[in-house]
Amino acid sequence: MPPRRDGPAGSERRPVLDEVEFAGQEWAFRQVRGNDSGRSYLCPGCQQDVPASSAHTVAWPASSMSGVENRRHWHTTCWNARDRRRPGHAWA
Ligand SMILES: [Zn+2]
Repeated sequence: MPPRRDGPAGSERRPVLDEVEFAGQEWAFRQVRGNDSGRSYLCPGCQQDVPASSAHTVAWPASSMSGVENRRHWHTTCWNARDRRRPGHAWA
């Protein structure tokens, strides 16, 4: 495993563009541009595919040390309407 470029101190300061409270916890999120990875994700808002090739929103628990691994890909419209799309199951 290659050494991390950000040491223990740096990892506490990962850049976060924005944070909101949703489903009982703080979420960091950012808009991402589409890429050509060919992957697709499941949008937690509508349970439909989010193609990586489209611009969308990535959100992850701000308090999680492994937040990047727990990130979720949302349609930006679904993210913006998340309060109306609150999932019925636990999110931790
Ligand atoms: Zn969606």
